Amino acid sequence: MTAIPAHHADTVARLRREVCALHAELIRWNLVTWTSGNISARVPGADLMVIKPSGVTYDDLTPESMVVCDLHGTPVEGAHAPSSDTDAHAYVYRAMPEVGAVVHTHSTYATAWAARGEPIPCAITAMADEFGADIPVGPFALIGGDDIGKGIAATLAGHRSPAVLMRGHGVFTIGRDAKAAVKAAVMCEDVARTVHLAREHGPVDRLPQHHIDALYDRYQNVYGQRGPRQEEGADS
Ligand SMILES: [Zn+2]
Repeated sequence: MTAIPAHHADTVARLRREVCALHAELIRWNLVTWTSGNISARVPGADLMVIKPSGVTYDDLTPESMVVCDLHGTPVEGAHAPSSDTDAHAYVYRAMPEVGAVVHTHSTYATAWAARGEPIPCAITAMADEFGADIPVGPFALIGGDDIGKGIAATLAGHRSPAVLMRGHGVFTIGRDAKAAVKAAVMCEDVARTVHLAREHGPVDRLPQHHIDALYDRYQNVYGQRGPRQEEGADS
């Protein structure tokens, strides 16, 4: 039984494989503990998304175990319940039509900044390249319902950063596609760690705004991108 239109079947099958496989990157980059992180991708042209099943360990994930939901978080295909963060992902897709994928982690250093409710200052060039700004803090919100999603969308709308630190919780990233959103999650943890370590031994200053702007602009142009959040392919 399925509510998925036949002409989206190939795309859904591809996204099931892609979203499943990218969860291995969360392990590889040490962003998750147990089952605490999740990835979803929008099905382009349909009001659907593909998301991790709830509570299934990463080793046991398969393309078939991914859950297809509508953009209100209601499952339409799959044997498992969707991630407990599904409502947040769904809200972001509804509120931000340009977003093709969402990633959530509690990665250690970034979540330490979230615990303090402190934005990560844009103090290094890699951060200016990738985020183009401080990584902002979103409001504290309890899981369930639209509060987390509203906080993500309100913080990231019009912001260069594809990552938000949800206060007292963890990281949400967005991207054009799942790979880009995962990359943002990896880079967010990397710069969170570096700036944290730097701060342990002295003050850390933001880069001057005109340098941040120039670095961000160059990064976009060098990699042939047309705007914010089209950040795939940093190494190519
Ligand atoms: Zn969480």
